[in-house]
Amino acid sequence: MTIVRFAPSPTGYLHLGSARTAIVNWLYARSTGGKLLLRIEDTDQVRSEEKYLEEILLDLKWLGLDWDDEPIYQSKRFDLYRQKAEALLAEGKAYREGEAIIFKVEKGRDIEIDDVIHGKIKFNTDEIKDQVIIKSDGSPAYNFCCVVDDADLGITQIIRGDDHISNTPKQILFYEAFGANLPKFAHMPLMMGADGAKLSKRHGGVSVEEYKAEGFFPEAMANYLILLGWSPGDDREIISLDEAVKIFALEDMSDAQSKFDIQKLRWTNAEYIMKKDPKDLLPLVKEQLEKVGVPYGEMTEEELLKLIELYRVRMKTVGEFAGLAECFFKDDFEFEEKGTRKYLDKEGNKDNIRYFAQRLEELQDWTHENIENICREIAEERDLKAAEIIHPTRMAISGKTAGAGLFEMMELLGKEKAIERIKKASV
Ligand code: GLU
Repeated sequence: MTIVRFAPSPTGYLHLGSARTAIVNWLYARSTGGKLLLRIEDTDQVRSEEKYLEEILLDLKWLGLDWDDEPIYQSKRFDLYRQKAEALLAEGKAYREGEAIIFKVEKGRDIEIDDVIHGKIKFNTDEIKDQVIIKSDGSPAYNFCCVVDDADLGITQIIRGDDHISNTPKQILFYEAFGANLPKFAHMPLMMGADGAKLSKRHGGVSVEEYKAEGFFPEAMANYLILLGWSPGDDREIISLDEAVKIFALEDMSDAQSKFDIQKLRWTNAEYIMKKDPKDLLPLVKEQLEKVGVPYGEMTEEELLKLIELYRVRMKTVGEFAGLAECFFKDDFEFEEKGTRKYLDKEGNKDNIRYFAQRLEELQDWTHENIENICREIAEERDLKAAEIIHPTRMAISGKTAGAGLFEMMELLGKEKAIERIKKASV
């Protein structure tokens, strides 16, 4: 049976690259009918924090991942590491230096790994110093506990980022010293920023939790991360974890670095938004509105749902809703300068929309079709293009040049408010 592990260090939030490592481990375990263990690498007791750990676990579940058995905490296994280190001492494979225990590295040896993704990678032990395995403060060193655990847990495949390639030959020496079977290694090329530099805040955020907070969907995040460096073999761009698991093969992963493309992620997210029922979006929209302090209490659930329906195709994240639909939540919104100049200040436009408002006052049945009919009638009467009324009216209603369909917006806004705003903007 295959046994893999995801081994986050709770010294920060779940990085997008780590989330991808977790997803690939999950896909591998589930597609081979194997096990995925979760190992918390919390040996650094100064930098490890409970809040990070909690958020990492939440984010993994949020992404739709699960794991087998209880998580394993390295901080609870210090006795085991010490015992293994002392065994190496007793066998003459390690020596003491003060309080520290150091592993002897035999020089002049070639070590070759046959990486599932990169193929053969060669190292020579001349480049490897003797390795500290227990530090002088008594804590175990990373490479050492990693191998003690991987061997102890019977890990068959190690799937992790390329940033660990240089650790691998050192780790192989420990496997040999323990007389343990070597697992297979698969190092995934790192995810870089769009400009090829290390992924950082300026590329749009580096941790899953930041995207979650902005209103991205977990399915969209997982979808996007699955397709970075792996392709289902066709040009499909929308894929769920469950679909991917049926066709996933680790060997198909690319050995080239991938680039994080925020626009692609936003596009993917928008695809999921469009598929959602406004009812499912409602709690998320409310959460986002509350976050930015937009009062929606005066709106009925039904009105909110209509509004979501109206903007659903226009938002790439739920977080954008508050800004897009701003004019439905407050009367004192700002007017875009360019739009004001272009549409409201233009000769004749104010008069036209004032007349539009007048005519709307007679309208009994306030539906978008009827509002539109009046607009078209006026256009004909005054020999105008409908757009010449629509653009300045949209500015008057929302302060923006772009938005949802004007007549639908007006219907939702209600007769009184719509007319009042047009009048106000046309003086
Ligand atoms: N804790 C390591 C990391 O977060 C995991 C290393 C490994 O998978 O071996 O990068």
